[in-house]
Amino acid sequence: MSKQKQRREALVYHAKPQPGKIKIVPTKPYATQRDLALAYSPGVAEPCLEIAKDKDNVYKYTSKGNLVAIISNGTAVLGLGNIGPEASKPVMEGKGLLFKIFADIDGIDIEVDTEDVDEFVQTVKMIAPTFGGINLEDIKAPEAFEIERRLKEELDIPVMHDDQHGTAIISSAALLNALEIADKKIEEVRIVISGAGAAAVSCTKLYKAFGAKAENIVMLDSKGVIRKDAANLSEAKAEFATDRKIDTLDEAIANADVFIGLSIADIFTPAMLSSMAESPIVFAMANPDPEIDYGLAMKTRKDVIMATGRSDHPNQVNNVLGFPFIFRGALDVRATSINEEMKMAAVKALANLAKQSVPEQVNIAYGETRLTFGREYIIPKPFDHRLISEIPPAVAKAAMESGVAKNPIHDWEKYKEELMQ
Ligand code: NAP
Ligand code: MG
Repeated sequence: MSKQKQRREALVYHAKPQPGKIKIVPTKPYATQRDLALAYSPGVAEPCLEIAKDKDNVYKYTSKGNLVAIISNGTAVLGLGNIGPEASKPVMEGKGLLFKIFADIDGIDIEVDTEDVDEFVQTVKMIAPTFGGINLEDIKAPEAFEIERRLKEELDIPVMHDDQHGTAIISSAALLNALEIADKKIEEVRIVISGAGAAAVSCTKLYKAFGAKAENIVMLDSKGVIRKDAANLSEAKAEFATDRKIDTLDEAIANADVFIGLSIADIFTPAMLSSMAESPIVFAMANPDPEIDYGLAMKTRKDVIMATGRSDHPNQVNNVLGFPFIFRGALDVRATSINEEMKMAAVKALANLAKQSVPEQVNIAYGETRLTFGREYIIPKPFDHRLISEIPPAVAKAAMESGVAKNPIHDWEKYKEELMQ
């Protein structure tokens, strides 16, 4: 399809028959006078009084427990940059649609008109009583780090900045599986990370939690290798600075086992790929155009294990594999946060799911004949109906075991059945 045609199709999709992608629908009867007397005055006073007596009753009598706010200030939207709150709204509505179709969560988009960290945090805090969870979205670094840290500290509902942790979770699952296929150990591999932004920093933190060694990691930003002896390093970058006296990607990549691209298009050359160790793992995730073109990488080396952020190649690192199911599990046990244990449980469940035999429906949905665990299939596909029965229970269990679940689940079989309905 031509770019022009694609553009027109996308605009019509959003405009017709009704502008936008999401609407609100009542969940209770409303046909009679009696119904209305229950839905609103005088009946509505009863749940109000119950909640006034005990705040926790808000989960029993309102939509709070299944309602997630998707909140942005529009400062880092997709790869489009700082385009402002209104222009970010289609993305946030889209996220609402994904929450709904993949995990039956009601996601409401909220666009906030401020770039000030204090104002943003204050705004989210003040509206938090409405919601069961907060998905922060498309907020630029480094502000995003502080916003998330403060909100996690100050709120007792799950808060997650998906651009950081979603990507970290999906790419960690892909990395664990790629390492298994390459027969390498995460504690031993040399990892080069191109990019030091929101996504790169949180991915690298999670790889370390899974065993990657700081001394085996080299991170680069737009100025080159981040070195310990550099002046004025930000706190986020200093954590990943190297002792090695090198400056360029060329130098860093020689004999490395893993390349993680969360930077910009076309900075990774065939010569760099050729200089990597055997069975190199290349996750070129810059969107929409990766650090190295998929076809070019495949032509350069037969033994590469590659993932990108694109749906038109195998192994798409797609955040939709994570956030709907992570929030589902967190909401269902009324977790007070989304902690490291829950993220790591999601990673393991995703990695494990990719190793199970693939149901025929999934092959059909993707026009494949036989997806099997291997170089071209290291992460599950989004339209895999097993995601909803596998990921939320793993997250919920981890919440319970790490002591953040206010409403523990006891009957796991029943819970799984409910998830599949
Ligand atoms: P970000 O916060 O703006 O960070 C971008 C980083 O790239 C910055 O650290 C920047 O360096 C660095 N950079 C720019 N040019 C570079 C170069 N030539 N070599 C090395 N590093 C360079 O953006 P982000 O949210 O982390 O996202 C980064 C990229 O990853 C985007 O393309 C995004 O679309 C993609 N992404 C993909 C997925 C996915 O596939 N699921 C998920 C998240 C993000 P400075 O710090 O010096 O400015
Ligand atoms: Mg995003």
